[in-house]
Amino acid sequence: MRMRTLVSVSLALLLAAGAGACSAKSANEAAGTPTPGTTRSAEAPGTSPEASPEPSQSPESEPSPSPGATGSPSPSGKPNPGGKNEIGVVGCRTGVPSTKPIATGTGPGGSLLSTGTQGVALTFDDGPDPINTPKILDLLKNCGVKATFCLVGFRARDRPDLVRRIVAEGHTLCNHSWQHLFDLRKRTDQYILHDLGKTNDEIHKIVPGAPISWFRAPGGNFTKHLVDLAGSLGMRSIYWKIDPRDWESAKFGHGSSMVNHIIGAVQSQTRPGAIILSHDNGKPDTITAYKTLLPWLKARFILIPLPVPHAP
Ligand SMILES: [Zn+2]
Repeated sequence: MRMRTLVSVSLALLLAAGAGACSAKSANEAAGTPTPGTTRSAEAPGTSPEASPEPSQSPESEPSPSPGATGSPSPSGKPNPGGKNEIGVVGCRTGVPSTKPIATGTGPGGSLLSTGTQGVALTFDDGPDPINTPKILDLLKNCGVKATFCLVGFRARDRPDLVRRIVAEGHTLCNHSWQHLFDLRKRTDQYILHDLGKTNDEIHKIVPGAPISWFRAPGGNFTKHLVDLAGSLGMRSIYWKIDPRDWESAKFGHGSSMVNHIIGAVQSQTRPGAIILSHDNGKPDTITAYKTLLPWLKARFILIPLPVPHAP
């Protein structure tokens, strides 16, 4: 009986330790995390977290990277034996971004699937979200982890405070288009350049001079031409290696069902070099999952923000 009690207490302590407790110094921040109800962000008229004109389509749902894509890290967890240096980033432990030339990626349209080093990059898409973005920022801060935020232009405009916080806390910015049109690649060059440029301009009104070195097409719907157009604006295109499909509630449900799915997917698939796709906009289950995932990932991988060029 006594043994059973001890086991129960130990288990409870372990569970508590895993609940977003990356470091002791941040315990006060973790305790202060608010738990408001769910509200919709401004200008997101429908129920879709994507504010997409194609609401039946899921966020980053297509196409999936080819399973046999080259450059994928070893399932054994060894450091990137394929030698595909997609990004050429140094580890976050140094905090020094690389200026090496960027190789063509192996994702759709030449986008990047992996960091090219042992570093694992967390990416959070579709925000800023007034409820969930502050929560993931709190978790990242608690764990001392920097990530990359792929911002939707109009949401950045509507929440300049969150854009400022993302930058102030050392995360990397990524352009995720103005309003998340899944068919962006099919629009005219003029439209695409205006859309991406407007997004960058709006972000720079809020955080002048902040590097926006990355672009992710809505849905990951890249073409080489779209990658080239983003490149003409000084942005490199990122896809992902791991998609836990945190948007697919029809399949994985909500609440603990989705949380457990996300945790299981990320824990089973993450290898050195991976770019992991997640969503902060309208995805409270993703935030809950990262309470467990951040300490777990940090204990096993070097977590890096995607690099930005040296400041002039
Ligand atoms: Zn998206």
